[in-house]
Amino acid sequence: SLQIQLAPFAAGRTLLLARDVTQLQRLETMRRDFVANVSHELKTPLTVISGFIETLGDGLEEFSRQEQEHFLGLAGEQATRMQRLIDDLLTLSALETDRPPPDERVEMGPLLGRLREDAVALSAGRHRIEATDEGGPPIIVGSAAELHSAFGNLMTNAVRYTPRGGRITLRWQRRPDGQAAFEVEDDGIGIEARHLPRLTERFYRVDRGRSRESGGTGLGLAIVKHVLERHGASLEISSEVGKGSRFRAVFP
Ligand code: ADP
Repeated sequence: SLQIQLAPFAAGRTLLLARDVTQLQRLETMRRDFVANVSHELKTPLTVISGFIETLGDGLEEFSRQEQEHFLGLAGEQATRMQRLIDDLLTLSALETDRPPPDERVEMGPLLGRLREDAVALSAGRHRIEATDEGGPPIIVGSAAELHSAFGNLMTNAVRYTPRGGRITLRWQRRPDGQAAFEVEDDGIGIEARHLPRLTERFYRVDRGRSRESGGTGLGLAIVKHVLERHGASLEISSEVGKGSRFRAVFP
C-alpha cells in the first residue's frame, strides 16, 4: 500500500510524497484483530457468569440447594477460564519486552523429570507417558521459568489432544548436526497440513470447541514461539491427521 500526498509549494509547483505504508497497515490490522479477539474471548465466559448471577438474583429460594451449587460450579468454571486467559495474556506481554532472558543455567535432566511428572498428573492415567534423555546437552542458558512454561505448553497440548490410551513421549536429544532438540510426540488426533503455518498465531485454533472444552486459551503456542525466539531457538511442527503430532524446539 502506498500513501500519496501532493503538496503545492510554489506557483505551478507541486511536491509529490509517496510512502510505503504496507507494514504499518498490517500492524494496524493485527492490533485491531487482537483487541477484537481478546474482547470476544472474555465476553463469552462473562456472559455466562452474568446470566447465572441474574438468574440467582431473581430469587434464590426458587432453586434447590443442588441447583444453586450446580450454577455456582458452572460460573466458577467460566471464571477460571477468564483467569487462564488473562494469565496467558500477561505472560505474552511480559515476553514481548526487549529485555533478553536471564542467563540462568537450566539443568535439563531435572526439568525433563518435572515435565514428565506434570504430564502424568495431567493425564490422570489416560495415557502412557515416557521421557527420555537421548544425549542432549545437560544445560541450556536462559530463563528456567520461560523454558518450563514453553515445554509445559507443548506437553499439555499433547495430553489434551490425544485420546485415552494414547502414547506421549518427551525427548531431549542431541541431533547429528550438533543442535539440541526438545521434542514432544503424541499419537493423538493430528493436524491437517494447511493449519500448520498458522498454529503459533494468537487465538488460532483448528477446532474451537475442542480447544475450549479442554481448557485452551489459543495462546499456548504463541507463548512457545516467543520463548523460543528469545532463546535463539525455533519450533518445528510435523503432524498427520489421525496419526499424531510432533512439536520440536531446536536450539542451535
Ligand atoms: P489451545 O489453547 O487452543 O490449545 P495453542 O496455541 O496451544 O492453543 O494451540 C493452537 C491449536 O493447535 C490448538 O487449538 C489445536 O487445534 C492445535 N494443537 C496444538 N497442539 C496439538 C497437538 N499436540 N495435537 C493436535 N492439535 C494440536
